[in-house]
Amino acid sequence: MQSKRDYYEVLDVPRDADSDVLKKSYRRLAMKYHPDQNPDDNSAADKFKDLTEAYQVLSDPQQRARYDRFGHNAPDMAGFGGAAVNVGSMTDFFESIFGSVFGGQPRRQRRRGTPGRDLQYDLSLSLEQIFTGADVKITIPKLVRCDECGGSGAAKGVTPQTCGQCQGRGQVQLRQGIFTMATTCLACGGTGETISEPCAECDGRGMMKGEEEYEVHIPAGADDGAVKIIERGGEHGRGGAPNGDLHVVIRVAEHPVFRRQGYDLHGAIHISYPQAVLGAQIEVPTIDGPVTMKINPGTENGRVYRLKGKGLPALRSSRRGDQHVHVEVAVPRKLTDRQRTLIEELGVELGDEVQSRQPSFFEKMKNFFE
Ligand SMILES: [Zn+2]
Ligand SMILES: [Zn+2]
Repeated sequence: MQSKRDYYEVLDVPRDADSDVLKKSYRRLAMKYHPDQNPDDNSAADKFKDLTEAYQVLSDPQQRARYDRFGHNAPDMAGFGGAAVNVGSMTDFFESIFGSVFGGQPRRQRRRGTPGRDLQYDLSLSLEQIFTGADVKITIPKLVRCDECGGSGAAKGVTPQTCGQCQGRGQVQLRQGIFTMATTCLACGGTGETISEPCAECDGRGMMKGEEEYEVHIPAGADDGAVKIIERGGEHGRGGAPNGDLHVVIRVAEHPVFRRQGYDLHGAIHISYPQAVLGAQIEVPTIDGPVTMKINPGTENGRVYRLKGKGLPALRSSRRGDQHVHVEVAVPRKLTDRQRTLIEELGVELGDEVQSRQPSFFEKMKNFFE
């Protein structure tokens, strides 16, 4: 989340601005970004929201004093605040001060309805897809506008009537102290309209279960947990309100060989005891094919070799991470007679005490109790 901008900065006024200066600046900027002037511009709506919130706080002497002292962390800061704010309540606030400034349009033509919800989708990708980058098609089940009625919820030939409860505004006013809050009209569910004969396809809801397809571009080296936002890819809005956004969360699936750590890869390789002792050239899998790697004589169990540049590509860079090869010396469980003899001999040669083929009575007992 972005940190909140300073209210004085938002309103473009000095910190000692008096109420007249505040009001003038708010009016000038709010007119510019008013949703009625920028019907399809969400960034303008956001600016309008920020302006209104800033003005609400700074135009109230008590709140302003608290803000000057504590900033955005002030306890019990009033104002609309947060993400739940809708533009309707903001424009209501604006009009409560300046009146209807855009030619007195009837309120019911104003944007209304319920914006679609944001959706989250976990996209599982293989490590190979992360290595190369990928364009992935995804199908998102969601609420979509009914095709039959175009979201109006009305049967063919039936015109929705303006809701008597809210006069078509989709919202009713609630007063809280000096602020006016708008809340969704229960009679029409926020659409501002009532329907005599509902659309049979969607039972008058205007919405139905459906799905939409998107292609998501995954750059090579994408992080686990990274989020791609597809604007307006969420649930459809109702009653002319905008769709929500779609948040695609990248999840890297577990890989049978490699474990990812940033742009580096880790993987284990098994070598035999003679290979560990004498050294060897062995074949090691990497994300882009096997390579030959030298095992030094006297390599101990758990030693890590680094294959430089054999990891994942770094985002927005031509560099690549490394692959870390963890060496595990394999201990054979089944031996042929000859192998056993040789290893026993090796043991004797090394001066180690080893368990011979015919365990002593004492060792038999020990094994029995283990
Ligand atoms: Zn319908
Ligand atoms: Zn209503």
